[in-house]
This record gives sequence, C-alpha cells and structure tokens, in this order.
Amino acid sequence: MWQVSPFITSIFFILGVFTLYQVIYDGLKTLLHARNIKIDDDLLNSWLGVIYMLIFIFSMQATLVGTPISWQFMNFQLIALIFCAYFLNIHVRWYYLIPLMLIYMIFNGSIIYWESWCHGLTLMIFYLTLNYFRRHQKNDYPFMYYILVGTFFSSLLWMFMKIKLNLTWSTYLEEWSYFIIFDTLLYSYVGMILRDSQLKLHLLEFANHDALTKTQNYAAYSSQIKYLFNDCANNKLHLSMMMFDIDHFKSINDTYGHLAGDQILQHVVDVAQTVIDANDPKVKLYRTGGEEFNILFPGYDLAATESIVREIFLALNHLTVNINDQTIRMSISVGVSTISSQDTNPIDFYKRVDTNLYYSKKNGRMQITTA
Ligand code: GH3
Ligand code: MG
Ligand code: MG
Repeated sequence: MWQVSPFITSIFFILGVFTLYQVIYDGLKTLLHARNIKIDDDLLNSWLGVIYMLIFIFSMQATLVGTPISWQFMNFQLIALIFCAYFLNIHVRWYYLIPLMLIYMIFNGSIIYWESWCHGLTLMIFYLTLNYFRRHQKNDYPFMYYILVGTFFSSLLWMFMKIKLNLTWSTYLEEWSYFIIFDTLLYSYVGMILRDSQLKLHLLEFANHDALTKTQNYAAYSSQIKYLFNDCANNKLHLSMMMFDIDHFKSINDTYGHLAGDQILQHVVDVAQTVIDANDPKVKLYRTGGEEFNILFPGYDLAATESIVREIFLALNHLTVNINDQTIRMSISVGVSTISSQDTNPIDFYKRVDTNLYYSKKNGRMQITTA
C-alpha cells in the first residue's frame, strides 16, 4: 500500500528527473574531457537537454495514449518544456516547433480536436515567450516575470484540457495550482544546480588560464603534455615543441616599468596567437613562466614546424609596442625539438627544448635552435 500522496511523489519525481539530467551531463562532460574531445559546453547542454526531455515527454505519454487520463502527465511535460526554454535557454525558431507539435499530436491521437490545436499553439507561444524573457533578462525581478508567464500560460493550457476532456473545476484548479508549485520549485532547484555547475566551470577556466594574458597557463600545459606524450608514444604520432623567452626582459621592466612589461606580455600573446590561428588551431600556446612560453605542435615533426616557428619568430622580433609616446622593441630566443624514442617522460622532452633555448641565449639571443 503506497501511502504517499501523488503530489508529494510528483515533487520528488521532478527533482529526480533534473538531478539525473545533471548527473548524465556532468558524466558526459568528464568523459569527453578525459578523451580530450573538445565540445562547446552550451552545445552539449542544449542537445542533451532536448534529447533527454523529448525521451522523457514521449515515453511518459506512451503509457497514457488513448486512455481517459491522457492529461495526467501534462504538468511534467510543461515543466520539461520550461526547462528547455528557460533554464537551458535553447533558442528554437518558431517554425521548427510546428513539426514537433504535429508529431506529438499524431502520436497522442489528438490531431482531430480543435482544443488540442489551441493547446499546441499556446504551448509554442509559451515556449517562445519564456525564451524571450530569458534572453532579455535585464530586469530586477526575473522570478516575477518567470512565474507570471508560467501562471498565465498554464491557466490557458489547462483550460483547453478542461474543455476537451470535460474535467471538473476542482480538477482544473488542483492541477493548475500544482503546476505553479512545481514551476516555483523548478526555479529554485534548477537555478541552484546550474549556479553550482557554472561556478565549477569558472573555477576550471580560472585554474587553467593566466590572468594577465588570458592564455593557457603552466597547469594547462602540464596536463596537456602528459596526455599528448602518452598519446604520441602509444600511437606512434609526431609531437613537437617550441619554447621562447623574451630577451633582456628584466631591463625592459627596469627601463619602462612593470606596467609596460605587462603590456608587452599581452601583445606577445596576441601576436603569437594570431599567427597560430592563421595556421592551425590544433597548435597550442601556453605561458609557462614569467616571460617564457611553450607551444605544442601535435602531429608535427621538426620540418613541419619550421614555417610556423619562423613566422612567430619574425612577427615577435618586429613587434613594436608604443607606451607613453615611447616605442619599445623586443626580441625572443627560441628552442625547438621533437619527441624522440629515447624520451621516457615529458620532462626528457622538455629538457631538450629548454637546452636548445639556452643555446640560443648563449649564442647571442634572437635566434632559433632546432635539434
Ligand atoms: P634573458 O635574455 O636572459 O632572458 O634575460 P631576461 O632579463 O629576460 O631574464 P630574467 O630571467 O633575468 O628576467 C625575467 C624578468 O621577467 C624578471 C621578471 O621581473 C620579469 N617578469 C616575469 N613575469 C612578469 C610579469 O608578469 N610582468 C612583468 N612586467 N615582468 C615579469
Ligand atoms: Mg628572458
Ligand atoms: Mg626567462
């Protein structure tokens, strides 16, 4: 004998549906990250959200199609729709919603009822309105707009159901008030989950990026080199590395001040990144020390790196930075090497590149040493 009222069960059911969603999303993101597959988080969230909610809506409705209680899961379905429109903020053009509505009505056997058509069209407007409010959320009271939109549209949607299925006023009011409670619950619960996951994302970004130049930092470099080193060793792939260090940077700081030094570092990253982007986005730049940078070339042997290395070298040696009406010039020294079968770990590889850089420094700076 199940003594818990359906209303209470529904609350936990809804919370469970969203918790499961978040667990799947986090799991998938971790899996893709571990396999080094880069996918935009928003894109993953949108697609997973749509697929998950469509499976949820259709599989629940499949158990009720053709029965006199085919309306019983409507509140859950509205909540799923709000989740996609408002919380995942998935922007769908209105005309894509029409085939979706028709498929649902055919599936549900309700295409011959005018009330179902009104219901379907109202749902579409509900979706677009929520999406609009989410996108233009500049007001101070987002919850007020959210709940007003939800209350208004759900009253209409339940009214069409009431007329079509001859529901009593008490059923109408009961379901409508349940909806408002679920809607409020959704706002606080999902808001909390999303804030948490957003915070994790920001922390991860922060931990892997250098605050001054916004490029990836030593932590990002060391996890990437570990992954690439093993991947290359296991699959017999090429991997090359370029390391450069700004010449006499200390004297630039001493002459023009640390702020000028900081601006030069930012320019160096902009220029190097522009050259990389124009050549191959698989090549990655890292700020591994104060004025030291490493560039990883996955899949490149020494000869293949030559033109990009030279382009970066020339661009940075010709770089002039104007600060307080003074023109500052700079140069860099470079070391380049490629992975060898004698390298037992990433440090062996790194040491060789560093030795080459040191050789450039010893031999008069502003040069490239490749070995
Ligand atoms: P070398 O040609 O031998 O590389 O000489 P150098 O002066 O560039 O080398 P050194 O290692 O002696 O000095 C590096 C300087 O870089 C010292 C440090 O103050 C400066 N530096 C490190 N990080 C930053 C930073 O974030 N901003 C600024 N402005 N300077 C930095
Ligand atoms: Mg230096
Ligand atoms: Mg240095």
